Amino acid sequence: MTHCIACGSTDVETFLDLGRTALANKFLLPAEIVADEPYYPLVVGFCHNCSHVQLIDRVPPVDMFEDYLYISSLSSTLVNHLDSLAKVIVDRFRLGPSDLVVDIGSNDGTLLESFGRRGVRTLGVDPARNLTQLATAKGIATMVAFFDARSAAEIESTYGRASIITATNVFLHIPELSGFMQGLETALAPGGSLVAEWHYLGDLLAQRAFDTIYHEHCSYWSLTAVDRMLRSHGFAVYDVERLPIHHGQLRIFAGRIAEHEPTAAVAALKAAERENGLTKFETYQAFAADVRAIHDNLRATLAELQAAGKRVVGYGAPAKGSTLLSYLELGPDRIEYIADKSPLKQGRVTPGSHIPIVPAERLIEDLPDYTLLLAWNFADEILQEQAEYRRRGGKFILPVPSTKIL
Ligand code: ZN
Repeated sequence: MTHCIACGSTDVETFLDLGRTALANKFLLPAEIVADEPYYPLVVGFCHNCSHVQLIDRVPPVDMFEDYLYISSLSSTLVNHLDSLAKVIVDRFRLGPSDLVVDIGSNDGTLLESFGRRGVRTLGVDPARNLTQLATAKGIATMVAFFDARSAAEIESTYGRASIITATNVFLHIPELSGFMQGLETALAPGGSLVAEWHYLGDLLAQRAFDTIYHEHCSYWSLTAVDRMLRSHGFAVYDVERLPIHHGQLRIFAGRIAEHEPTAAVAALKAAERENGLTKFETYQAFAADVRAIHDNLRATLAELQAAGKRVVGYGAPAKGSTLLSYLELGPDRIEYIADKSPLKQGRVTPGSHIPIVPAERLIEDLPDYTLLLAWNFADEILQEQAEYRRRGGKFILPVPSTKIL
């Protein structure tokens, strides 16, 4: 029996089955490829009680987050975005040297560097030892931990309570929300705010971005569901903004219910979610049908290109690429290799599909006919960086919301 992780109801109904996939961030060295590579069901359900969308089967977080290969500072789009977030927060809350900002899922400390440059005290919390080492090397205080009641108590006693707690792209990752919320109650100063961002469910549906579904993301939050969850723990969203980065993020400002008056933007977006069907199961059934159509069309396109003797490679090895490759059953026979800028991924193969990952420069050296853009959320940045490849006749294939050749 599946319980809704937001409200505890057992009235959770499946609408999309993406099959069994390897963990999306477990990029393997060739020597690590084993016959019994673990696969887990990737099935998504909707809670009829609170409208929350979540994975039906969960994987223990330690299996996914202790060795993590996604580095914030490698994308200039993301670095700029995080810097603008720090600026917004410092200006809005008039933060100074006496304020502490705690960043949950602090990665290599990119966001905290921006706060530090503006004279604010910072602390990172992240379970990935390999990343926290990068942050510590830059002089950013970082705890190697999941954010929960225990680590929050340690933060409070060692550093004091935080004026602001940030959580960018981690809110989808939290399976134990009660521990997280207890931690928030402990570590957040009176009058303080949680500022969180994540890939917004409304955008995920609109873009048919099914590939952002993978095991690390146990939740897919709408404003309606997250506000309801927060309220059950004494907190509420008091302001909200939609942002274009990652093809659609939600940024929320939340605090203790009695301390903040919700803005009109909160009521407006909740009303829009009702109008757009985010609280209705039928919406998710229609989404699942569209995802199956993407599967069929993209596979057919790739088969046609191959039949015509064209060479096809991939660009970008984000976690979402792993979902797409697994669901479409694309291996090295269909995609020769994947070019990626991250030195941590080069020399490895994709999880489950075992496509080799090579340096980004390979694209221009090699000039394959077609390149499947797996990191489509950074399409603008990548198309600009790879202008020379396109000038010499190379073509990109965008996988969602429907197959498009650029
Ligand atoms: Zn629920």
